[in-house]
Amino acid sequence: MVPLIDPFARAISYLRVSVTDRCDFRCSYCMSENMTFLPKADLLSLEELDRLCTAFVGMGVQKLRITGGEPLVRKGILTFFEAMSRHLQSGALSELTLTTNGSQLAKFAAPLAALGIRRVNVSLDTLDPAKFAQITRWGRLPQVLDGIEAAKAAGLRVKINAVALKGFNEDELFYLIDWCAANDHDLTFIEVMPMGEDMGEGLRLDQYWPLKDLRARLAQQYTLTDLAERTGGPARYVRLEETGQKIGFITPLTHNFCESCNRVRLTCTGQLFMCLGQEDMADLRAPLRASPDEAPLEQAIRAAIARKPKGHDFDYSRQHVTGKMTRHMSHTGG
Ligand code: SAM
Ligand code: SF4
Repeated sequence: MVPLIDPFARAISYLRVSVTDRCDFRCSYCMSENMTFLPKADLLSLEELDRLCTAFVGMGVQKLRITGGEPLVRKGILTFFEAMSRHLQSGALSELTLTTNGSQLAKFAAPLAALGIRRVNVSLDTLDPAKFAQITRWGRLPQVLDGIEAAKAAGLRVKINAVALKGFNEDELFYLIDWCAANDHDLTFIEVMPMGEDMGEGLRLDQYWPLKDLRARLAQQYTLTDLAERTGGPARYVRLEETGQKIGFITPLTHNFCESCNRVRLTCTGQLFMCLGQEDMADLRAPLRASPDEAPLEQAIRAAIARKPKGHDFDYSRQHVTGKMTRHMSHTGG
């Protein structure tokens, strides 16, 4: 089948799929505490998610990342991973992976590894139990640390994703790095993004810790070497020469990575977002539900990719946040 190529000659080989908007945590930068979730009837069934993902795989998507909300709280999620693993076995997918808060990993790590998952991204912003409870509101650190242990024991490679938050985890920077080195986890820092309408701009700007400042602080203690490696996404990597560790930086606001963008995002209601930083989306649920025939669905996907914009326009440079997105990361899938 003809691969998905957008108008800027970028091949779309990476699909991120949010399988639920629900979560067992309420991270303050991601959700409000009394978050209203979507009616269950709006969500795609696991069979519908399978059809959609399979259509993308048929059109050249090689990497599938399952996210949410918290993907591992979706009922029957293992059945879905099992279904997707057939595309690993056929060789169509080169990677099937997930981003999780880690709360359910103690239960799921071994079965996921058995299905061919090799790596998992675990979001963890602090190693201090009290601060962890504060930032996630409903999360408890020991549960996540147990989950990470289980992932390691199952042979999964763990990457820790930490949102850089000013006045919150600044003082843990070196501790986090040492802890990841000691446990052989990769580590990536994420710049906080202005997502969600009901959290107020004040909170966003207050918490904004530019990764260039984080990097400058790292450089006081380590020799940093920029690595050429790119993933088609917003991550850039440096090596800490003293320890050999590779540290990632995801800076969607301060770096332009759009020219090499290879990804699109599917929400749990079947909306396809062609760019994390733009409101435009295509509804794939309607063609999916309209007919058991795959042709209209494929056509809708191709039409959406033909609208993929050149880039996004977040901007923190002014006193107020411009280019702010009104949807939550838990909706689009971070
Ligand atoms: N629940 C899973 C988790 O936390 O890993 C997967 C979904 S979560 C929305 C994906 C990632 O988005 C997490 O690493 C989280 O820290 C990040 N995230 C959420 N809100 C964010 C924001 N406003 N700015 C930057 N990253 C954010
Ligand atoms: Fe849940 Fe992940 Fe959002 Fe935290 S960042 S509230 S764990 S979806």
